[in-house]
Amino acid sequence: MNYQDLKAELDKQQVTLLAVSKTKPVNDILKLYNLGQRDFGENRVQELLEKKDLLPNDIRWHLIGHLQKNKAKYLADFVYMIHSIDNLKLAGLVNKEASKVNRKINVLLQIKIAKEDSKFGYDWLQLLEDMDSLLHMEYLNIKGVMGMGTFTQDKLITHAEFEQLHDYYKILKEKYFMNSNSFSEISMGMSEDYKIALEHNTTIVRIGSLLFGSRT
Ligand SMILES: *Cc1c(COP(=O)(O)O)cnc(C)c1O
Repeated sequence: MNYQDLKAELDKQQVTLLAVSKTKPVNDILKLYNLGQRDFGENRVQELLEKKDLLPNDIRWHLIGHLQKNKAKYLADFVYMIHSIDNLKLAGLVNKEASKVNRKINVLLQIKIAKEDSKFGYDWLQLLEDMDSLLHMEYLNIKGVMGMGTFTQDKLITHAEFEQLHDYYKILKEKYFMNSNSFSEISMGMSEDYKIALEHNTTIVRIGSLLFGSRT
């Protein structure tokens, strides 16, 4: 799909386009950069670090994939946002690495919404139990929630899951962030389902193959 068309469609709805560049070469990233794109997402820390070194330093790098605990330290001093905080131990580690470089890190709480047995994402009840501890981590700037829908052609399932994530967002907002403007993001929707996500008030869509072509 044409970058400018997609960008215009999302701008109209004040939704952030996160270009997911995993497995794609830096030249592909530069092409979009030169059209004005600044938010790029990778799902592996190593790959992100390698690309970052070769690209302009005003790119906002998002980590969207599972973060191994021993890798947090490599991201702390520059990452724009980590979308994949899904347990207390990991949150604590990111908080600690952020404190070492005296920098608040934007994070999203990844919540499990897919019915399929996905390994990653907070169990909702567990997240509620952990919220007080999370709120005490002063180097985490908790910006919102992230979720991945079931990989399915059945749009009803995707609708239900995105509605669920939006409900979770609202509950957290009302319970813990009423006096804060910073909890304002819902990261949901990918190439196949971003239009459904738009119907459920997503604020960040994570688009890879639609922009860069399919991955092999
Ligand atoms: C790969 C990936 C995407 C983008 O997927 P596309 O289907 O290529 O748009 C979005 N979110 C996460 C977490 C991913 O790993």
